[in-house]
Amino acid sequence: MSGFLFDKIVFGPLQSRRLGTSLGVNLLPRSYKLCTFNCIYCECGWTYPEKQVITEFHSAENVRDALEAKLSSIQKNKEHLDVITFAGNGEPTLHPEFSKIIDFTIALRDKYYPSAKVSVLSNSSTLGNPEIAKALSKVDSAILKLDAGSERTYKLINKPLTDLSLKEITSILKKFPNNLIIQTIFLKGEIDGEKINNTTDSEVGEWLKLLEEIKPVKVMIYPIDRETPAKNISKISREKLNEIGEKVKKLNIDVLIVG
Ligand code: SF4
Repeated sequence: MSGFLFDKIVFGPLQSRRLGTSLGVNLLPRSYKLCTFNCIYCECGWTYPEKQVITEFHSAENVRDALEAKLSSIQKNKEHLDVITFAGNGEPTLHPEFSKIIDFTIALRDKYYPSAKVSVLSNSSTLGNPEIAKALSKVDSAILKLDAGSERTYKLINKPLTDLSLKEITSILKKFPNNLIIQTIFLKGEIDGEKINNTTDSEVGEWLKLLEEIKPVKVMIYPIDRETPAKNISKISREKLNEIGEKVKKLNIDVLIVG
């Protein structure tokens, strides 16, 4: 399975499971995924370490032109828009001009769709870079990944390409400002000969402890939705997600259950 890759800089508006009517922005290469993680469920397919070189970023100018052209066009057509979302073929914060792109995106949003939000879906791995953290602090929703409460499960699910630990990610997330939304996928199965299940009471308990420390404004939880690069993983039931969601609510954290 090769996974799905976006071939445009700006795509949509599309109806998002989590965000409403969303205009997507892909800052990453068209022909391969660029990411610091290799998540077993990634809809873009596997991350190939040999391809993690900077060869074909869209320039900030091209991004601005594409975004302004699309916003102008959908405004003329009186189309509804809830959110401009940075997602696409990997980890958006890896773009070398990410900070500049966020600044002009906020300005374009203010010009064309002042009531829409600007959101970034990120895997949390680059927050140690102060420039990226500052850029993320400016958007309406920084939707940051936390798929596990234990180092073992984090490594099995997210397969980070660096030695960044869950402990390090958590300590950075704890300092993050008031626009932080945690996104967590729940799944079970087997990877590399090891059983994996981040929905067990002990795994969920560890994850809830991290949420208590991080104090996000909201948590989004969801199951796998499409074909995954890893073959032996399966979808979690809505009942199980509801059960986990109730535990999040007991921490007085808003929760959105999708799927
Ligand atoms: S962080 Fe996102 S883009 Fe990167 S491998 Fe995981 S799911 Fe895919």
